[in-house]
Amino acid sequence: MQERADGDFSPQGPDQVDVVVVGAGLAGLAAANRALDLGLSALVLEASEDAGYRCATRLSGGLFHVAYRSVFAPPAELAAKITAATHGFVEPQLVRAIADNAGRCVEWLKGHGVNFTRIEPDQGWRDNVAAPLGFYDQSHMVWEGLGADVLLKTLEERLVTRGGWIRRGARARELIAPAGSVAGVRVAQGAADTVLAARGVVLADGGFQGNPHMLREYVTRHPERIKLRGPAAGAGDGIQMAAAVGAALVGMPYFYGHVLSADALHNDRLCPFPFVDFLAAAGMLVDADARRFVDESKAGVFMANAMARHGDGVATVIFDDTMWNDAGRVFFCPPNPNLVEAGGTLHKADTLEELARLAGLPAQRLVETARERNEALARGELSSGLDERGALKYQAVHLGKPPYYAAPACACITHTTGGLRVDECARVLREDLGAIPHLYAAGSTAGGLEGGPQTGYVGGLIKALVFGVLASESIARGEST
Ligand SMILES: Cc1cc2nc3c(=O)[nH]c(=O)nc-3n(C[C@H](O)[C@H](O)[C@H](O)COP(=O)(O)OP(=O)(O)OC[C@H]3O[C@@H](n4cnc5c(N)ncnc54)[C@H](O)[C@@H]3O)c2cc1C
Repeated sequence: MQERADGDFSPQGPDQVDVVVVGAGLAGLAAANRALDLGLSALVLEASEDAGYRCATRLSGGLFHVAYRSVFAPPAELAAKITAATHGFVEPQLVRAIADNAGRCVEWLKGHGVNFTRIEPDQGWRDNVAAPLGFYDQSHMVWEGLGADVLLKTLEERLVTRGGWIRRGARARELIAPAGSVAGVRVAQGAADTVLAARGVVLADGGFQGNPHMLREYVTRHPERIKLRGPAAGAGDGIQMAAAVGAALVGMPYFYGHVLSADALHNDRLCPFPFVDFLAAAGMLVDADARRFVDESKAGVFMANAMARHGDGVATVIFDDTMWNDAGRVFFCPPNPNLVEAGGTLHKADTLEELARLAGLPAQRLVETARERNEALARGELSSGLDERGALKYQAVHLGKPPYYAAPACACITHTTGGLRVDECARVLREDLGAIPHLYAAGSTAGGLEGGPQTGYVGGLIKALVFGVLASESIARGEST
């Protein structure tokens, strides 16, 4: 074992460092590596004991974009995209923080040895994907040896070969904050309970999608009917620890997710793809009473959020033959034919009445809902909310070409978008908007960077990268209050 510059021989690292980072996903490893660049010492705590620990970053598709636009587009254009996608939910200074730093931070990753490729056609937003590709053509979860997995291994190697530390199986439990100023963190590791002292603590533990109690409190009455489209690693620890020392929360009810086959709840071959969002947007999404309850044209993230809060969370996507052969073939690993091939239920009938019987829906009501929907479409009312988010278009069309199809659907949650209120330096804020000294948040632990009532998606990876980098730059500048 090599002696560290400070004389420490332990792979655990010392008990006092400049920067303690909670969580070894992209946000955490970006923060720790940026700290080393700037001459600070850094130690990362990772709750999982596994070398290949399954965080959201590792399971992701590795596609870096800003609101479905290239990270290298002009910052003013990116800022406009973020504001439009989130309908102004993201504060202007946070919009600028992402837009101004996205390209620089991806270049920084490249400088640390992360390789990127593109998906052709790149459609203006798929030009920076961690290499190698392989995530997007399978319906079930694949990640080993793919871009995001390699990215994390590269960043971890950069950390430890440059004198930083990562402690696995070490779960941060509590912030040490005498008189409201954060001075360290209490850590549970096996039977041991230790305290780490630091100049700055960066919370990067990945949101709360893996915590059913917090999901029930903030997002949905029935978390068990929402498919977790990722690892259960994000348990909301950082949000809870920071709230206990006075941090403000923002945007808590909202999440980034999509609409999947309901069979994904018990069949992992149907997750993370195919999305049935596009079929719902072309056709319609109905509840157990065969009534529409959401503007389907507002995209899959909006639909998934609406499903999580409507009735018992059960819904059915209704579409016709034209849609199955058009919208059904859109996007990565599309439902036609992957939905059926992966074992998802798809009812098919020559009439809507028969379809309703097969799908367990009230027949008369389904026929009326389809008629009302077609009439609204003909009047030009249905797509009034037509929302073009970057390259993705959601277009309703006339429902009337048999055979008709019904796909039972569930909402899935990739990551929560609510979390700790931060400023443009990644400092965690109190309700009065004052910064909690020495406390920072990045990645899915931070709120207010996407989501909101219109559930705008900015990009989980770029958010994690930019705020991880910004957190350590703030600590290096001494911006603690
Ligand atoms: C299937 C899937 C595909 C995706 N594809 C894309 C994509 O292509 N593009 C994109 O922009 N986004 C994508 N995302 C979203 C993106 O991956 C996440 O938003 C991002 O990786 C979050 O990074 P993070 O560092 O905040 O969290 P994570 O990567 O989840 O890391 C958090 C880490 O903190 C650890 N931890 C938790 N609690 C503690 C604790 N108390 N103490 C110590 N450690 C703790 C966890 O074990 C975990 O390792 C995808 C997500 C999934 C699941």
